[in-house]
Amino acid sequence: MNKIKRFIIMIMAMAITVSTVFGMNLKTASAADYTSASDMAFTGAWSEDKWITEESGDHWYRLVIPSDGEVEFRMMSYIDELSYDLYTEDLSERLYHIYTYGGNETQPKTTVSNYALSSGTYYMKVYGYNGKYKINASFTSYGTNDISAISYDSPQSYSLSNQITGAITVTDSEDWYCMVVSNTGYYSVNIQIYKDDTDISIYNNDLSERKYYKYMYGGTVTAPKTSNENVVLEAGTYYIKVAGDPGRYIFNVSALNQSNCSHDYKTQYVDATYTSKGYQIHKCELCGHSYMDNYKDKLQLGQVETVYCSVGKGKCNLSWYSISNSNGYQIRYSTNKSMKKSVKTVKVKGKTSKIIKKLKHRKKYYFQVRAYKKEGNQTAYGKWSKKAKTRIK
Ligand SMILES: [Zn+2]
Repeated sequence: MNKIKRFIIMIMAMAITVSTVFGMNLKTASAADYTSASDMAFTGAWSEDKWITEESGDHWYRLVIPSDGEVEFRMMSYIDELSYDLYTEDLSERLYHIYTYGGNETQPKTTVSNYALSSGTYYMKVYGYNGKYKINASFTSYGTNDISAISYDSPQSYSLSNQITGAITVTDSEDWYCMVVSNTGYYSVNIQIYKDDTDISIYNNDLSERKYYKYMYGGTVTAPKTSNENVVLEAGTYYIKVAGDPGRYIFNVSALNQSNCSHDYKTQYVDATYTSKGYQIHKCELCGHSYMDNYKDKLQLGQVETVYCSVGKGKCNLSWYSISNSNGYQIRYSTNKSMKKSVKTVKVKGKTSKIIKKLKHRKKYYFQVRAYKKEGNQTAYGKWSKKAKTRIK
């Protein structure tokens, strides 16, 4: 028998003696009055050993919650059967009841609970078989600004484009906001949930019509779920209701613009031409935002391959095969082989031959032809042909 057991038996023996002597149930008589509860420290560290004995009766703790937030509570129980209940300040409601079993002197059982609580005071009662346990509590504020979102009759006023960080808690199962929309149009509804099941509704003024509804689930404290959708609202007064599981949420309703729009793109294909690339244009029908992608290269005019020269006196008759889709041809010629100096150009529309006159006698000339295509103000050209070389008579 170890010391602890001996100690417990001693305490029990004393309790029996005392209760026999005074003829009353000590457990009830000394059941700590909740008004003398000790404040729970949110240190995130394990407490010293707490002993439940016949004399101590139930243990009471007071939880003073400074703002809406979450308490993570760990119970390390060396007791086979132990319960702990969380109550409202006036004890009128038991918010949580947790029962843990299977702890023993050599191997405690640790249970983790999370309580989503509104700011205020709460009481926890710990009770069970005799033995020891330790507690470890920490508190994380939700940083909420849903300070008065009580009901349809007492909503919190909400201004478009403002961000609300709200919380559903075990004592606050729904939040109500009232907003005024001045202009009929598209509005973006952005929601993030750091919790599970959540319902968000936007109702008209007298709740006869629900204009928007979103059910979301699966968010966690570290990995929220996000939704961004558009809704058409006419000018008027609306009520936003948030309900569901305890935890934190964030929402924002704002007039639709290109940065908050969830975008509903329609795609249009624009074919490539000889002067501009082809592409797909995606344009949002709601906000007008657009972007282009899937570019296709410009069309390319064919190349005139060979230029035929029929030489005359001071002139040359040029001809070539036609290039499809062209509007005409450009000829350039020079006595300079590199076509860098004293180059002349001539345009030919709709034919595939041209007589070039006023050429110098007995001079060697070089000729090139390329096709062109006019599109609006722009002109596209094919590649220059190989140079044709000839000596003028
Ligand atoms: Zn858009």
